[in-house]
Amino acid sequence: MNLFRIFGIQLAVHASFVLLLAYTAWEGWQDGGWAGIAISIALTIVFFICVVLHELGHSLTAMRYGVRVPRILLMPIGGMAEFDRIPRQPSAEFIITINGPLVNFAIVLILWAVVGRPAGLPFHPHIEESLKGYTQLVLYWNALMGCFNLLPVFPMDGGRILRAILATRLTYLQATFWAARIGQVLAIALAGTSLYFWPKSMLPILFTFIYFAGGAEYKSVLRREQHEAYCAEMAKHVTTPVKSSDYDEPPSPPPLITHGPN
Ligand SMILES: [Zn+2]
Repeated sequence: MNLFRIFGIQLAVHASFVLLLAYTAWEGWQDGGWAGIAISIALTIVFFICVVLHELGHSLTAMRYGVRVPRILLMPIGGMAEFDRIPRQPSAEFIITINGPLVNFAIVLILWAVVGRPAGLPFHPHIEESLKGYTQLVLYWNALMGCFNLLPVFPMDGGRILRAILATRLTYLQATFWAARIGQVLAIALAGTSLYFWPKSMLPILFTFIYFAGGAEYKSVLRREQHEAYCAEMAKHVTTPVKSSDYDEPPSPPPLITHGPN
């Protein structure tokens, strides 16, 4: 479902977002009736505004490198900016990627200056039921969002940063392979750990999703490289006679790359 355009980028929400809002409202109702619903919905909206700002950090930086960003999609598990391509220069990917978490850390610093940090950090923040308390909660969420995305689990931001670093030594495909493999091992470990410690949270589902997303993105890079190799081969054949068998099974064109979650 499309919402509106921001800096020329279509902001959209996934249909399952309705379920998240319904669940949030139900939780709010149990906490404090109509006022509880209003507070939970408002906090959820503010949380996703922070997700959009994080994605805009990536997107606006990517646009400076000539990348087209048609859409930012919000899902219950986070946001995803869709890029038509990801620059192959490691420095460009590094800067585009780091600018998402940096937006969160900038929000943390601004809110910290305004309302101070909540007591009980890092794991047991004490949040009062007041405007100051809720603002501190938003500060805390942004700190978590920034740190969480820096986990080296491809295709999360930390995994992309790992690929950019690896790509300074390896080919882009090898760097993607190793970033995806390391990410998948960590995703399994983190899914297991979160299932044990926080079974009711979204984390086990999120890490399972990331496990598959990492493998899928490696395959997409592999297909793209094969497609480019195929095109280069065809270009050579323009001036040389071609056997008909050379045209068997041309690889499909590469799909649109998504960037995210978060
Ligand atoms: Zn990000």
